[in-house]
Amino acid sequence: MANRSVVLKEQGIGALLSDPELYCEFAMVGDRPEAGALEPIAVHDPATGRQVGSIAAFDAAQSAAAVDSAQRAFAVWSELLPQERSAILRRWFELMVEAREDLAIIMSLEQGKPISESRGEIDYAASFVEFYAEETKRPNIESVTSHLPDAEVEIWREPAGVAALITPWNFPSAMITRKAAAALAAGCTCVVHPSSETPFSATALAVLARRAGMPAGAFNVVTGSAPTIVEPWMADPRVRVVSFTGSTEIGRLLYRQSATTVKRLVMELGGHAPFIVFADADLDQAVSEAVKAKFATSGQDCLGANRFFVERGVYERFCDKFAAAADRLSVGPGLDDPDIGPMMNQKAFDKQVEHVEDALAKGGRLLAGGKGHAAGALFFSPTVIADVAADAKIMNEETFGPVAAICPFDSEAEVIARANDTEYGLVAYLHTNNPRRIYRASRALQFGMVAVNRTKVTGAPIPFGGYKQSGIGREGARLGMEAFTEVKYVCRDWR
Ligand code: NAP
Repeated sequence: MANRSVVLKEQGIGALLSDPELYCEFAMVGDRPEAGALEPIAVHDPATGRQVGSIAAFDAAQSAAAVDSAQRAFAVWSELLPQERSAILRRWFELMVEAREDLAIIMSLEQGKPISESRGEIDYAASFVEFYAEETKRPNIESVTSHLPDAEVEIWREPAGVAALITPWNFPSAMITRKAAAALAAGCTCVVHPSSETPFSATALAVLARRAGMPAGAFNVVTGSAPTIVEPWMADPRVRVVSFTGSTEIGRLLYRQSATTVKRLVMELGGHAPFIVFADADLDQAVSEAVKAKFATSGQDCLGANRFFVERGVYERFCDKFAAAADRLSVGPGLDDPDIGPMMNQKAFDKQVEHVEDALAKGGRLLAGGKGHAAGALFFSPTVIADVAADAKIMNEETFGPVAAICPFDSEAEVIARANDTEYGLVAYLHTNNPRRIYRASRALQFGMVAVNRTKVTGAPIPFGGYKQSGIGREGARLGMEAFTEVKYVCRDWR
């Protein structure tokens, strides 16, 4: 690590890569990298606080010009035969797989993610490109028998147009490909705004897309301050779809902004997952899954469990085992491959402190962690708090970090009501070995995804998304292409 730090400090990220061209500090619009009209934005390694590079900052005019580029490319891309689009997407997938290690290093440096998790995210990100490379070839077989005696009817699916994709820092690659591969497969072209905290994962994907033969302007990565970039897109009637992943707060803002030009919307927003353990569950399995559900991605995960509800009969045993497991987790910089990396920024770190202090002030019992970690300014120790009050902030807001809040429950009806008592509805985790209860609870939980006796549920072929204020629409699966298409009904007279 010492050598790597010196190389990074003296020569920059590119020197750590086997393919230095993957590190790109420019926006990728049209057929070339482009500098911004505004002062570049510094990007920091959250593990050390050191600047690792800077990214081009476009102004509003450049952002609008990126839509021109995508609109021109739409005329080309949407007219390709499905197998031609498929071949380019397939090549993009293969290049991502070949560049896996470099892409993972870029991600760990700008995001802080443990390198094993970064590699896992690259696999996950590539899997969407592979899936939609296949899906674009699948015929649409929606048909209807004519209801008119003298006419023939047909239903067509057509690409909607230019799509604006706005993505967060916690999954800097996968949140882009989950949207872009579906949009491109449907025949749309895209303008992408990645988080300014993790732009280099996005520009690296654009470098690979060009190498894969993507036509100029089909996949544009537009960097700079989010409002400067995104507002022109929201006002532009040529942008027909907005697909956003991020906080519910910014999602609401984009929802309002998109109303003026009535855009199609996909929203993947915040989560506040309940993790429910019944006394009949396999306790050791529940504990080991709880560790994954809470501490993967250092807790900075929309699927992260925030509220642990444990049936009273096994409550103390679960708390002890879970706290002991949290204590065993290693904490450190992403490239050292610990279990837990740094918080993304000071705001994220401060939220951990706020939620812990609030939970303890309202009667919570600290079982593990509880404060910052010696690894560095933005590291927070894996934390477990028992007996957390229902009105504690952590029981009502997304914590987005490695802090777990546990409380006991006494009945199925009580725990389902408490789990559902939130504006969010992304994922719920359920641990029980009672088949009838699995069915009842899975039906009763108001969440887009229910994970039973396991944590990992995601993948390209499944519909990912939330109920209530966790989002609109679904990503992944065939459904993920739907928002990027228009339905056209043609009625031909026979007379
Ligand atoms: P965020 O602050 O909402 O940012 C998301 C994106 O929106 C970034 O590209 C950001 O750019 C941009 N943005 C910020 N302010 C904007 C504005 N005024 N107008 C237009 N765009 C704006 O979210 P985050 O902190 O990056 O990510 C964490 C959140 O994402 C959590 O709530 C998490 O649950 C959610 N998330 C959801 C899913 C899901 O699939 N449901 C997956 C991952 C994350 P800048 O970063 O440059 O400001």
